[in-house]
Formats: sequence, structure tokens, C-alpha cells
Amino acid sequence: MKLSMLMFSLLLTTHVYSFSWGANGHRIVAQICEDHLTEKTKSEIKGILGKEYLAEIANWPDFIKSEKEWNFTNSWHYTTINMDQTFEQVKEDYKKDKNINDAIEAIELMKNILQEDKIATQYFEDLIQKNNATKLGNSTKATALAFLVHLIGDIHQPLHVGKNKDQGGNKIAVEYFGEKTNIHTVWDSEIIEHERLSYTEFAHFINKLSKEEVAEYQSHSLEDWAQESIVLREFIYNTLYDYTDRDSGLPSFSWQFQHDNINFVEERLLQAGVRLAGLLNEIFNP
Ligand SMILES: [Zn+2]
Repeated sequence: MKLSMLMFSLLLTTHVYSFSWGANGHRIVAQICEDHLTEKTKSEIKGILGKEYLAEIANWPDFIKSEKEWNFTNSWHYTTINMDQTFEQVKEDYKKDKNINDAIEAIELMKNILQEDKIATQYFEDLIQKNNATKLGNSTKATALAFLVHLIGDIHQPLHVGKNKDQGGNKIAVEYFGEKTNIHTVWDSEIIEHERLSYTEFAHFINKLSKEEVAEYQSHSLEDWAQESIVLREFIYNTLYDYTDRDSGLPSFSWQFQHDNINFVEERLLQAGVRLAGLLNEIFNP
């Protein structure tokens, strides 16, 4: 009885709803980031997190989704930019109210908090208090750092810069190695998990950039990161039906799909990790 309940809840969490890179995706981003931090940044982070690694806190913003007090952050894990909109339009739209509406605004808020901007810090603390939410380690900075690590990962998952009508691909049914799922989940976790590597192995295998490549990745803006996700997102939609199964009529992915897409997933995780490090170095080495 207990086991079947467990299986059922596992099934629910892994196959029905999906919110962000799976747990290992976020850990891979954090692990890559650690390798590109300056000594000064590392010691600043140690001051905030104590003994914990970035990989340990990277999934915290997903864990707290089960606490209703943190529900106000649910929309922070993605942004919506439809084909008839530009990044600037969406940003202007969201600026009209004081709320933090999406990943872009949340990333900027967390960055400001870590830079000790008083207004940003007060805003976040008021929001937490108003909702009766509990901070990570009772620290505003640790909480902001966990969100920053997590959300920079999310914004690099191409289907987290989604289209409204299909909820970033959550509504698009596909098969992955014979299992029914959706395209969003395939991109969040299935492609990564299929490699059967630990997060440290995965990070180690892909983290082989030259200094020039690191500098190139870090030279891009938050808008560029989102635009890259849109380009990749459109590629995903355009190639979806290349894999249609004759019988089910659904896009049905197996080895060929894995082979065709793993490089894109690796590149996005690598970019997220390196850019997160770039941003943290900028914050802590002013
Ligand atoms: Zn997320």
C-alpha cells in the first residue's frame, strides 16, 4: 500500500507537472559555476552559506513549491515571450506593476539583494514576511543566492522562456523511450537522466571550455540568454514531428532524438554555470 502510494506520488512529480531543470540539471549548473569562481567570490559565498555547496541549495526554490507560503514565487521560474512579442515589450509590461512577475525580474531582484541594495532587500524581506514564508537558513542573502543559482539555470532551459498557450510545452504530449510524457519534462530532466551520470560526472565531462570561450559566454546579457532560449525553443517545436510514431501519432523520441539533442542540453547547462559564475564574480568583486 505504502509503496504504491509512493510510486503514485513519484509518477505525479516526474510525469504530470514539471517546473524546471530536474534536480540534477540545477546541480550540474551549480557544480560548473563553482569551478569558475574567484577566491574572493568563494569566500563571500562561504560567508553566506557556511559549509554548504551551491549544488546543495540549487534546488531549494523547487522544494519550497510544496509550501503555500512560498506560492508567490511560482511564476519566478520562467518567463513567457510569445512569438509576436519582444523581450523589451514583455519587460515593459511587467514593469507596470511593482510585483516580481517572472524569472527576468526575479534574477534582477536577487542580484540587487546580493549587491546589498537596501530597497531590493527591504522589498524581498517585506514580501517574505507578508506571506509568512521561512527563509533559507534564516538569511535573506542565502535565500537570494539560492534563487539566483536556480533561476539562471531555469532561464537557460529553452522551454522556460515559453509560449503561453501550451504552458512552455507542458501541454504537448510526447513519448520518450516508450513512456508517455510531455516535451517540457523531456527537456527538464529526461535527456539529462538518460545519460546515467551523477551531477559531478556530468559537470566534469562537459566543463572543458577555454578561457576565451568562458569570456565569450560571460559577455552576453540576460536578454541574450532569453533570446538564445527562444531560438532553441523554436528549433524544438520545428523538429518535434520529425519523430512522429506511425501508430500513436505522437512525437516519439528514442536514440536518434537523444543523439540529436544532447549537445544542446550540454551547451545550455554549461552556459548557465559559466554565466552564473560571471555574475557572482561581478557581484562580489566590485
Ligand atoms: Zn525552477
